[in-house]
Amino acid sequence: MSETKSAAKELREKLFMQRKNGFYRLSDEEAEACYSFCEDYKEFMDRSKIEREVVVYTLDLLKKSGYTEFKCGMQLKAGDKVYLNNRDKAVIMAVIGSEPIEAGVRLCAAHIDSPRLDMKQNPIYEDTEMAYFKTHYYGGIKKYQWTAIPLSLHGVVVKADGERVPVCVGEDESDPVFCVSDLLPHLANAQMSKPLAKGITGEQLNIIIGSRPFKDDEESGAVKLNILNILFEKYGITEADFISAELEAVPAFKARDIGFDRSMIGAYGHDDKVCAYTALRATVECEAPKHTVVTVLTDKEEIGSDGNTGLCSAYLEYFIHDLAEALGSNGRAVLSASECLSADVNAAFDPTFPEVNEKNNCAYINKGVCITKYTGARGKSGTSDASAEFTGRIRRLMDAQNVIWQTGELGKVDEGGGGTVAAYIANLDVDTIDMGVPVISMHAPYEIVSKLDTYMAYKAFAAFIAD
Ligand code: MN
Ligand code: MN
Repeated sequence: MSETKSAAKELREKLFMQRKNGFYRLSDEEAEACYSFCEDYKEFMDRSKIEREVVVYTLDLLKKSGYTEFKCGMQLKAGDKVYLNNRDKAVIMAVIGSEPIEAGVRLCAAHIDSPRLDMKQNPIYEDTEMAYFKTHYYGGIKKYQWTAIPLSLHGVVVKADGERVPVCVGEDESDPVFCVSDLLPHLANAQMSKPLAKGITGEQLNIIIGSRPFKDDEESGAVKLNILNILFEKYGITEADFISAELEAVPAFKARDIGFDRSMIGAYGHDDKVCAYTALRATVECEAPKHTVVTVLTDKEEIGSDGNTGLCSAYLEYFIHDLAEALGSNGRAVLSASECLSADVNAAFDPTFPEVNEKNNCAYINKGVCITKYTGARGKSGTSDASAEFTGRIRRLMDAQNVIWQTGELGKVDEGGGGTVAAYIANLDVDTIDMGVPVISMHAPYEIVSKLDTYMAYKAFAAFIAD
């Protein structure tokens, strides 16, 4: 009996796929390195809530790490580090490899925009002696989640004379915060009987910004007048200046450890800053790579990647062409030989909502960085679907570098779906696959990732870059 059992056990070990919690494989030293890495990540998250702030953080780190601004026609050699700032909302960085650039680049692409509430172009109004901002939400949100939580305001206002005024209110402990109201349950009979998607509408996502009237004035609009006066005194802006502004309301929460064991992190915008930060760290820590490394932190993914700072625009392609030219090659040949990790998050299995996932093909918290061969919806529509060969290559690389990884797709076949920038890069004739961190409560104001998975994403990107 016991002999048969051990033969079965042996066979099982040989033939079955291992899908264990990664902590069983992590040494104590590595667990410590993982937790310590995540302290840096949390600090980054608290400083970088919107794409423009990620760009500021990134440029600062790149300059400190010896990167210089890329200029067309500049002389480049192996080991040189350059960056391109796309309108303060996206960044490309590159480290020139020792191999000729025709051997292709190792490309990592993550996005740095996250779902949020954008201010409308004429946002400020007064109703019943309360002042408000009207918003137009950005990206896929469950609207009811954005009421009754503290919000901070980030972005930029361009004044009539062209002066650019940066805004960040609600992050410092001494700052005020803002809020969208919700109905009290006592009076919410009608609201509570609506479907969840209709409980709060887009036009109800109005942000409270004040209630005190301007003291010398009793005419209507005095609260709005008082707010505009405060804004004029602080920023020198008038109502018309909002027309040329990008103001974004995001949760005012700080990134915090979750759980008694501190194994997870709660924060706004893990999607996709968890992949942006890990790819950025892996890139700036890479010295003298074999292949030229190109990492892009892009904007606009959450609304479909259109616009000149999103990856449907040509800015990445132009950069590769210009880089190839600076190294005496041509961009077309470089792109065809290149490989890309589309570094984006996937949905983690949530035991509270098991019905939306197919348990054999979804990502789990703590089982490592997730490799996603295809995304899409309604029969793989809108995905690039990586080849078996490229998937095999990435799998071998992860195993060789001891990266804890798993595979998973986004939910059950007919449950919904989603996409990433993978398809846009693959369309440039680049071998591309999605890889990223599983997230619980994705697109909620407070998302959850595991520290182990985050650290493994960093290890995975570093392994890919160094290969
Ligand atoms: Mn994403
Ligand atoms: Mn997203």
